[in-house]
Amino acid sequence: MISETRSGTPRDIVVLGVDGLGFELARECWPGAATTEMRSVFPTTSAASWLSSLTGRSVAEHRVPGVVFALDEQPRRLVNVFKYQGTGLLDPHGTVFTDAIAAGYQARSIPSDLEPLSCTWREELLRGSRRVSGYRFYPCPDGRYQPQSPAEIRNGIRAAIAVARDDRPAGRPCFVWCFVEVDRHVHEKGYDAHVHQVLAGLDKIARDLADDGVVVVAHADHGLVPTRHSPGLSKTLETLRTRIPFQMGGAGRIRWLYTEPGTAPRLRRALRESLPGPVRVARAEEMFPLEVRSRVGEVLLIATGEEFLTETGYRYDHGSATEAECRVPFSVWDAGSSSAAVNSADWEGMT
Ligand SMILES: [Zn+2]
Repeated sequence: MISETRSGTPRDIVVLGVDGLGFELARECWPGAATTEMRSVFPTTSAASWLSSLTGRSVAEHRVPGVVFALDEQPRRLVNVFKYQGTGLLDPHGTVFTDAIAAGYQARSIPSDLEPLSCTWREELLRGSRRVSGYRFYPCPDGRYQPQSPAEIRNGIRAAIAVARDDRPAGRPCFVWCFVEVDRHVHEKGYDAHVHQVLAGLDKIARDLADDGVVVVAHADHGLVPTRHSPGLSKTLETLRTRIPFQMGGAGRIRWLYTEPGTAPRLRRALRESLPGPVRVARAEEMFPLEVRSRVGEVLLIATGEEFLTETGYRYDHGSATEAECRVPFSVWDAGSSSAAVNSADWEGMT
């Protein structure tokens, strides 16, 4: 965007925010794009990663570590970030959209499958953008995921982007961010043929837009890895909780336990002695910067293998620190330049 504004004739920029896509698969499915590797944040949760991507802030700065965590209140209260509506979540901040407006762009977002959420997190994430609503690609009526065909998803994304680009005064460049929640499919089905076809569809959309003079970027928040629910781990935690009380936060492959004063060392010891399966027990200070520690529990459980806690019906999950979760793509389709007009360093420099 910065390079574009310096060019004197800034082109439209379309950004595909692909939830749940690892680096290797992006490179395989998008051979025509210039793909560089970025690192996700820790933990590899959507809530933390998307905020970092769109605000340019680290987890230490935005202080949203995941899904369920404590706000800065006494007595301690746990909130679900995808439901919480209220103050105290994060400090005022800019976004890629406010930067785009400052650079002379019309800023549009296509929230798609974020639309059903009604929460402060989403408002902060999309701050400054005009929403283009009414498009769903990974619908979950009644909480159950109902896959659309890859062709329906491709056509829906193409239509939404066209509407977003049309909605502007003549002669003004447009910045569009479109959320594509591949994650929802991968949780239940893995990286199957459907995902490959959807990614091929995104590549086609991106190439067509690039041919039309648009700079297209795709980036992701995290990859997912095979994960099975462990009834043994669940039962062990329930039994321990009766002896050493705790509350549990986090989500996916990382959970944190809020203990009563003075009991954290005893709980960690008991967990190490009794946990089945490949689970790392850690202290919060080993994994989180000081700024975030009051929001997470004192004791961390981090999946290191396939057995952990996960939702019913899930076969893949994320949140921990495996390479497949941490390595994510930053891909650019830019037909108008032999040297990429946008790169990941440029992206990081936007905010
Ligand atoms: Zn995600």
